[in-house]
Amino acid sequence: PSLKRKGFSTLPDVKWEDVGGFELLRKEFELYITRRIKYPESYETLGVAIETGFLLYGPPGCGKTLIAKAVANEAGASFIYIKGAELLNKYVGESELAVRSLFDRARTCAPCIIFFDEFDALATKRGTEGSWVTERLLNQLLLELDGAEQRRGVFVIGATNRPDVIDHAVLRPGRFGKLVYVPLPSPDQRVLILKAIARKMNIDASVDLSAIARSEACENMSGADLAALMNEASIAALEDTTQDEFNKIIKSKHFEIALSKVSRSVSDK
Ligand code: ATP
Repeated sequence: PSLKRKGFSTLPDVKWEDVGGFELLRKEFELYITRRIKYPESYETLGVAIETGFLLYGPPGCGKTLIAKAVANEAGASFIYIKGAELLNKYVGESELAVRSLFDRARTCAPCIIFFDEFDALATKRGTEGSWVTERLLNQLLLELDGAEQRRGVFVIGATNRPDVIDHAVLRPGRFGKLVYVPLPSPDQRVLILKAIARKMNIDASVDLSAIARSEACENMSGADLAALMNEASIAALEDTTQDEFNKIIKSKHFEIALSKVSRSVSDK
């Protein structure tokens, strides 16, 4: 469970060690967000004025939310999670107010990272049919993002599976300036993901996680699928009556059972 902070912001408990396979992206976030939060003076001396937001896109369950939480954790920043559609529905007709109060709250707990999940629901291209509600919301969002002075210490990260429907205006520098693809993991990345998840589990030394991650059964699995696989393996170990009730350990046979239960969630094109 995340640590509660003021209002609805939290300090996420996800560390970078819990995230498998995103070393390069981690560096990028370090440069643009983490270090900036930790050592604001050095950025000010250099005259770096623009706050850079990130928009992560790619198939579901590949770690977008996890990454954003790890960034907040590493920076010691508050984290506000907002689901696109919820923000829209909660304040029908008052979407500008909703955006304004969101940024107000973010400012009160700065340094703060606002994470917009399902960002496409908020930032649909203007001028498309039925977009008038989002249009007003979007305009307010742009206003907040551009107010450099007021925005100090408030960083934004968005996530979407549909970058194609996003209004180009939000993708400019200073807004969500960095568009980053978060793909399905490669076999090597799957190894890193299984090992990252395994850190918190009791796994027998004879289990070859690399071989499992690279096996055909795990082909095209997302990070979420791999997490489900690990979970099934621990359930199988729990059910194993040949083991002492209070001293369960996950063995290869439990992974075999797990692999027969879990299948990849993202289908081929
Ligand atoms: P969505 O588009 O559905 O919101 P997402 O890309 O935000 O998906 P996450 O919520 O970050 O996906 O991932 C879902 C779960 O899958 C995580 O909570 C974690 O258990 C696992 N997971 C995904 N990617 C990784 C990873 N790289 N390392 C470790 N665990 C991962």
